[in-house]
Amino acid sequence: MRQSASQHSIRVKPKWVLFLGGLSLVLLLAGLCQKSSSEFCVGGGHELCPDLLGATIRIKRYALPSMVAHICGDRRSNACAIRKARWQRVTCEVHVLTPEAPGVLQHELNHCRGWEHQGDSQEAYGQPWVPNWRLVHARGGID
Ligand SMILES: [Zn+2]
Repeated sequence: MRQSASQHSIRVKPKWVLFLGGLSLVLLLAGLCQKSSSEFCVGGGHELCPDLLGATIRIKRYALPSMVAHICGDRRSNACAIRKARWQRVTCEVHVLTPEAPGVLQHELNHCRGWEHQGDSQEAYGQPWVPNWRLVHARGGID
């Protein structure tokens, strides 16, 4: 049995089928993963959100408002969380004024866990929080 030349020329190379098939599978799975991970933390203002970063957390307390304002770069701040992503590890330093206002640590810890409030007001803090995808991706995804 001999193959004719025309038959041979229209045959799709299996290597390409595998490549494209594999590619679409990867894209499909990536899409599914993105969808299945939580996109909102509804209770961000009053409870801890899921940990998206697994960051190493350090908490530093200060008695002087000027110290916190200086570190946080905002005169009105009574606390802030400074996150750094490097080599797929995230560190999070929480700087907080003592005595701590109720809920402040939890708020900053949610930042450490990879979440952001949408806006900067008490009202916005009470709205669902969203993931900081830049940090989550820098971290290399969720374990
Ligand atoms: Zn905040």
